[in-house]
Amino acid sequence: MAALVEEKVTWIKHWDDNLFSFRTTRDDAFRFNNGHFVMLGLKVEGKPLLRAYSIASPNYEDFLEFLSIKVQDGPLTSRLQNMEIGDPIFLSKKPVGSLVLDDLNPGRRLFLLATGTGLAPFLSIVKDPEAYERFDEVVLVHCVRFKSELAYHDYFQKEFLEHEYLGEYVREKFRYLPTVTREPFERSMRITELIEKGHLGLDPAQDRVMLCGSQNMLRDVASALDALGYQISPNQGTLGDYVIERAFVET
Ligand SMILES: Cc1cc2nc3c(=O)[nH]c(=O)nc-3n(C[C@H](O)[C@H](O)[C@H](O)COP(=O)(O)OP(=O)(O)OC[C@H]3O[C@@H](n4cnc5c(N)ncnc54)[C@H](O)[C@@H]3O)c2cc1C
Repeated sequence: MAALVEEKVTWIKHWDDNLFSFRTTRDDAFRFNNGHFVMLGLKVEGKPLLRAYSIASPNYEDFLEFLSIKVQDGPLTSRLQNMEIGDPIFLSKKPVGSLVLDDLNPGRRLFLLATGTGLAPFLSIVKDPEAYERFDEVVLVHCVRFKSELAYHDYFQKEFLEHEYLGEYVREKFRYLPTVTREPFERSMRITELIEKGHLGLDPAQDRVMLCGSQNMLRDVASALDALGYQISPNQGTLGDYVIERAFVET
């Protein structure tokens, strides 16, 4: 377990039967870029059982936050969903990932397109002051099947607007567009539909995009963006009009 660091769970919030968030303590030496993911998990029969998790808190907080699915027969999350405050949790020491602001060309608007727990890395990006310094607008689209899966919905509509450091930026530049596909809601289109029908008004000359979701979502949304003339960042360190978490497509 030498490459792992042990932290303690400090906060847990269950959103519904399929989703929960939790926070852990954070070692001073644990550094990451907003948008990164880390391997995280539990010791089961003395051995680490780890899965990739996007870090949902920004890198200036003294805690780490995560948003997790509950897979009822999932090796990790069937256990993780039952943990309690004070329980130990293990993290790899080196967060990584390609879903970072640094790899985006300059632009006017930043679109963060997420399905399900793909929201997690964007919770950290929308709290990154750099997002507001680089872009005139930051638009978060969160697409889920059911309303109960709109984790952080109330936070984005109220508390976030009063954020201690970012409130002014957020009120001026942040837009939150939740969309629910399987029950009535104010917005019900899938992300591909929103793009293809022109509802987001995406323009590759000035709008930059970050994508996070399932492999199918990444494939479909990337091809909708490509059809508009978007160029993907081909690898870490090379600029593009949009970025995706490459670990999702490579696993
Ligand atoms: C780069 C990366 C970042 C990730 N970040 C997160 C994150 O922030 N939060 C998170 O909950 N998961 C995230 N995942 C998925 C995560 O690694 C695990 O798959 C998940 O925690 C379930 O673990 P498990 O052992 O219980 O089940 P697994 O055996 O890992 O998965 C069982 C099945 O559950 C489904 N599944 C797994 N994860 C999800 C999910 N997030 N949403 C919907 N269905 C899912 C899939 O069909 C999968 O085959 C990420 C994966 C990658 C590759």
